[in-house]
Amino acid sequence: MAERPFELYDLKVEVVAGDRPMICNHPEGAYFMVEGETLVFSGPDRFPMFPLAAILPLLPAKQRVTDENDWMTTDTEVACPDPHCGGC
Ligand SMILES: [Zn+2]
Repeated sequence: MAERPFELYDLKVEVVAGDRPMICNHPEGAYFMVEGETLVFSGPDRFPMFPLAAILPLLPAKQRVTDENDWMTTDTEVACPDPHCGGC
C-alpha cells in the first residue's frame, strides 16, 4: 500500500469565559498550541489537569478535515468539566 500524505492542522486552544465565573486556575485568554502531537505552552506555564484531560481526546479529530456538517467542525467550545466553573 502506497503512503499517501495528509495534513494536520496546528491548533490554538484558548480559555474563554462563559456566562458563569471561572473557579479553576485557567484564566481567560490562557492558551497553548498543538503542533503535530506536541503541546506548546507559551503563556502561563501552568494549566489545570482536569480541563486538559477533558479536551485532549478531541484534539486529534480537530486537527483533521471533517465534514462541514459534522459537529466536530462546527462546535469550537468545550465546557470545563468542573460543574461549578464557567470556563470553556
Ligand atoms: Zn474550569
